[in-house]
Amino acid sequence: MEAETPQARDLFAKFGPLMAERDRLLDSGVRDPFAIVMDEVKSPTEAVIDGKDTILLGTYNYMGMTFDPDVIQAGKDALEKFGAGTTGSRVLNGTYVGHMACEEALKEFYGMDHAMVFSTGYQANLGIVSTLAGKGDYVILDADSHASIYDGCFLGNAEIVRFRHNNVENLEKRLQRLPPEAGKLVVLEGVYSMLGDIAPLDVMVPLAKQYGAMVLVDEAHSMGFFGEQGRGVAEAQGVIDDVDFIIGTFSKSVGTVGGFCVSNHAKTEFLRLVCRPYTFTASLPPSVVATASTSIRKLMHAGNKRAHLWENSKRLHRGLRDLGFKLATDEPESAILAVLLPDQDTAVRMWQSLLEHGLYVNMARPPATPAGVYLLRCSLCAEHTTEQVEQILGMFAAAGRATGAID
Ligand code: PMP
Repeated sequence: MEAETPQARDLFAKFGPLMAERDRLLDSGVRDPFAIVMDEVKSPTEAVIDGKDTILLGTYNYMGMTFDPDVIQAGKDALEKFGAGTTGSRVLNGTYVGHMACEEALKEFYGMDHAMVFSTGYQANLGIVSTLAGKGDYVILDADSHASIYDGCFLGNAEIVRFRHNNVENLEKRLQRLPPEAGKLVVLEGVYSMLGDIAPLDVMVPLAKQYGAMVLVDEAHSMGFFGEQGRGVAEAQGVIDDVDFIIGTFSKSVGTVGGFCVSNHAKTEFLRLVCRPYTFTASLPPSVVATASTSIRKLMHAGNKRAHLWENSKRLHRGLRDLGFKLATDEPESAILAVLLPDQDTAVRMWQSLLEHGLYVNMARPPATPAGVYLLRCSLCAEHTTEQVEQILGMFAAAGRATGAID
């Protein structure tokens, strides 16, 4: 008799509870909030979804650069001149003049000595965190840090020390307990993308330095919008000179795709040779770096756009609060406003009702949000007109009443 092949464990079994929860939600007849398709995109603030004209209030297009005519032209020119892709790593055949020009634009934008362009912001965090902090080193991070920061810690095999979200005392307590001689990297974000709140970098950065740590700040959601030169929250709060590494992305205010690290640290260039998510992947297509460079240079002179974006954020925050919605921050702190809802069912029903009224927002749930937090994330764009913001408030009022989220 032949021996029976042992039954191997189902590798999908670990997702069982999540699959069941998702099936239950979809069985209740709501649309899948994570399967939206844009049939057409008309502008930074308008798309067609399921044949319906829809206002976009759930993109990271803060400065509305995706349709900027100069940005589009730069992309077209580079596509024709350099082809569709580089087919190679930055350290082999994948560095074109356009990648160098993009790094120059970043150095000028931040007033820093070194810039490294990655294929995404996710890879920039993954690469820099894992390369700086290895086995035996400590990464001290905010509990609400982005997945790419956590993944960087796992890849580098560093010790993860978490402190409570935006809590200075808790950060200090954690720092006090670490061996003084150990390598330490404190990782902070300018704007936290789920709640739209900002970090007290003016206190946290000097504190980290006091304990001998290097500091990395992810300014993904603040670039272009915060600070006199649009460099981010560290600039706005006057501590940018004490930050060792700034991580950013082209997928938000810059309006395309890609990631970067800028620094004044003298040894930064060496990272190109030892940072696996930089080295072992293809570089960005020439058209993408050309659009990024053009956009970054235009963001250096975007004071009017910045001012209008702040106006939009304040108007929407005030309007939503007046309607009776609960918001994650008492005051508008960034271009992100999070509308808190009591549970997943209410959040999804409200999300769907808004879509039916012609408004797209992001539905967010754990693990993207802290445990037990269900929210509708509204992200504003400098290209939203005041009339659109008023329209959006009308849609929230109608959907809120239809679903019972407000009285
Ligand atoms: N950092 C933060 C804080 C982010 O929110 C994101 C993306 N949402 C990233 C990094 C990654 O950026 P990218 O889209 O370029 O991969």
